[in-house]
This record gives sequence, C-alpha cells and structure tokens, in this order.
Amino acid sequence: MKKNILVNDGISKQGKNKLISYDFNVFDKKIAQEDLVEFINKNKIQAILVRSATKVNKNIIDSCPSLKIIGRGGVGMDNIDVEHAKSKDIDVINTPDASSISVAELVFSHIFSISRFTHQSNRSMPLEGDVSFKNLKKKYSNGFELKNKTIGIIGFGRIGQEVAKIAIGIGMKVLFFDKNINSKSIKIDFFDKKQISFELKVSEFKTVISSSDILTIHVPKLHSSLITKKEFKIMKKDACIINTSRGGVVNEKDLLESLNMNRIKFAGLDVFENEPIPDIKILMNDNISLTPHIGASTIEAQNRIGVELAEKLNKILNG
Ligand code: NAD
Repeated sequence: MKKNILVNDGISKQGKNKLISYDFNVFDKKIAQEDLVEFINKNKIQAILVRSATKVNKNIIDSCPSLKIIGRGGVGMDNIDVEHAKSKDIDVINTPDASSISVAELVFSHIFSISRFTHQSNRSMPLEGDVSFKNLKKKYSNGFELKNKTIGIIGFGRIGQEVAKIAIGIGMKVLFFDKNINSKSIKIDFFDKKQISFELKVSEFKTVISSSDILTIHVPKLHSSLITKKEFKIMKKDACIINTSRGGVVNEKDLLESLNMNRIKFAGLDVFENEPIPDIKILMNDNISLTPHIGASTIEAQNRIGVELAEKLNKILNG
C-alpha cells in the first residue's frame, strides 16, 4: 500500500516528482494548524514535511500515532519539538546544507544595496524620480566600495563560510568569531575548476564587532539577543549590520536606537522578532534594507531541499 506524505508548507516540483517516483501518495496542500491532527489521523499520514510556518508540537506528536517522520526543509528546527519526537521514535530530518549558498548571496544582496543606497532609491525613484532626479542623484551619491573593506562574520558554520567565500572573491578582508571553531580552511571553487584555499583564524568577539565595516550574523536561534546596545556602542560609526539568521538575535529596539543616534549607518534584515508581523518602526526605517525571510527561497535551493527530503524519506520509509 502507498505511504501517505503531507507536504504542508509547499515543496519544489522536482521534490514532489521525486516523492511520486518513490511511490509515495503526496498531499501537497496547506492544512491549518488547528486542523492538522484530524487530517493526519484521517489520512494515516506517515510523514509530514514542513518549512518554518507549520509547528509540529507535542500535541501533534502525541495525537498522531501514524506519524513516523517529520521533515524540515531547511535548517532551523525551532518549529518542531525535536526531543519529544525522538522520545516517541519519530525520525526528524532536515536539509542543513541545501540553502547555505542562497542565504550567503542574499547577505550580499543587502550589502550591495546598502553600499549604493539602492534600497532607498528603489523606494523614492517611483515617487519622485521624474521631478527630483538631480536631488536624488545628489542624495544617493557617496556610496562606498566593498573592496578592501572588512567583513565580520559571527557564527562561522555553513552559511558563515559561504559568506566568507563571496567576500574573499570581491577583495574583502574577513574576520570571524565562532564559539566552537578556532580556524577553518575556506576553499573557493572557480568556474574553470581551479580551487584556492584560504586559512582563516578566529578573532575575539569584541575585535570582530569593533573592527568590521560590515557585520553579518549566522548563529542559530538563541535564548537572548547576541547583538545589543553594548555591541552597537563599540561598532565603527559607519558600520552596517546584516541579520539573516533568526529574528531577535539582533535586538531590534537597540538596532533602531543605534540607527537613530547614528551609532551605525545601515542594517539589512531578512528575519524579524515578530514574524510574520514585523515592527512597523523597523519596516518604515529608511536605513534598513528589508526582505521577508527569503534567505533559502531560491529555485536552486528549493529544488535541492525537495529532492534531498524525498531521498531521505525513501531511505527511511522504503528501506
Ligand atoms: P550552522 O549550524 O552551520 O552554523 C552556526 C554556527 O554558529 C556554528 O558554527 C556554531 O558553532 C556557531 N554559534 C552558535 N552559537 C554561537 C554564539 N553564541 N556565538 C558564536 N557562534 C555561535 O548553521 P547555518 O546553516 O550556517 O545557519 C545559520 C543561521 O541561519 C541559523 O540561525 C539558521 O536558522 C539561519 N538560516 C536562515 C535562513 C533564512 O531564510 N534567512 C535560511 C537558512 C538558515
């Protein structure tokens, strides 16, 4: 008999086709959080695949005896009660490597925007580009180049290392701090199969914070903010900060205060403390480049995520 899989937060076409090719019966639809238990039990769902939106909590785990696998497309597992699932012999799988390049490239999308004010000019050109062209030209001049600037990477895991590769490629100096990594060999692959390695050594947290022109954060979700007023106070005056990790890792109240007091210059945010309803003061701040949590959302990453999840499900459920 075909095994039933619920895909609750969407999956790429390639991933869905892969699941079907493994003879799974795929329910690719969004079931509301409050209706999940009933749906899973009614359809004897053996695996539920989610991204960050659906919460697979203790209640679902306890109330759905058919469930054998919880699959998370992406990295963070904060929407899944992993320990409880494991205690009930439910496998929890994710795809930690699939989106690192996409997130790293989004970091640079924010950095390039900020460095030439494109996040601001994209807001004002449609409104006044025809009547105030010269004023806007003046306003958005004096951008800065990235070559020879210092990027500080806090959290030097998969994404942090991908960020370092791009940074080195455009001539930036790279500093990093990671509480578990002392040194790392960064291998950069070029289009013609050439490869160059760089040996990077950890710096003190304080040194990275105070010496970086651009600071970018790549740690997991933490219980309290890692970047607060204390860190903003020792950052360079013209520095920028990018957060694509998890909302709250950079304290938003302290960020707003630091921007408003010109302690730092710009920020780029893909993640927010109060998702999916970010603070309006963050959304309206002209000095913040904004994206709605799309770090992993490229076609390539979504295909890798979908295919990897399908292969892992096949291995566990079909042997
Ligand atoms: P990873 O586990 O590979 O790396 C995280 C690194 O942070 C590890 O090396 C760890 O030692 C280090 N670390 C943990 N706590 C630290 C601390 N207090 N100080 C310094 N270093 C610390 O994770 P990753 O795959 O690189 O993902 C990083 C973050 O990006 C996660 O929060 C993840 O949820 C987030 N993410 C966001 C998106 C998005 O759509 N914006 C997509 C994927 C991942």
